[in-house]
Amino acid sequence: MRVLVVEDEPTLAAQLAAALGDEGYAVDVARNGVHAHCLGDADPQPFDAVVLDLGLPQMDGLTVLKKWRASGRTVPVLILTARDNWHDKVAGIDAGADDYLTKPFHTEELLARLRALIRRAGGHASADLRCGPVVLDTRTSRVTVDGRALSLTSHEFRVLDYLMHHRGRIVSRSELIDHIYAQDFDRDSNTVEVFIARLRKKLPPGLIETERGLGYRLVDPQ
Ligand code: CA
Repeated sequence: MRVLVVEDEPTLAAQLAAALGDEGYAVDVARNGVHAHCLGDADPQPFDAVVLDLGLPQMDGLTVLKKWRASGRTVPVLILTARDNWHDKVAGIDAGADDYLTKPFHTEELLARLRALIRRAGGHASADLRCGPVVLDTRTSRVTVDGRALSLTSHEFRVLDYLMHHRGRIVSRSELIDHIYAQDFDRDSNTVEVFIARLRKKLPPGLIETERGLGYRLVDPQ
């Protein structure tokens, strides 16, 4: 899962990027509204969620959000508002924000709200994602097969996490690359095949199908 953090305050931006990175997200940071709008306006949409501060240089967060929504961008957006500014919350939600947090906030709360936004965007109500014997607990980033814990590297986890959120649907290699790497990461499309091959060795046979020329699909082998 890939998250865009839009925050002009350098310390907070770095803290958020580090906390999200620790949770297994690929993270891009924008420090002004113009850059944020540009990153979030890409086709196809590479982000699974956006954390958007409203007070930003060059273009304010509310304008960024309105422009995204006007051009049909449905990415879940969590806005950060100043304390006691209820007008901002109302304006943000009316502009298409999916949730908000008031500064200062606890990182744990932000992480929980983001997980919920990403789950709901994929149509999942529960914090546990299931596919046959495989269960991914989005709260702890732990994966079990028939109740036994599975040991995964961070990139193996990112690939499986994305496929679990989109199970049953064909996910192309380029879509996987977009959602497991941040923009400045040195991407190599062959590495996705390596991650898939490693995951297949660790997971029940038949769980990850290859659709030739199209991509991969996670299915319940039973
Ligand atoms: Ca700000």
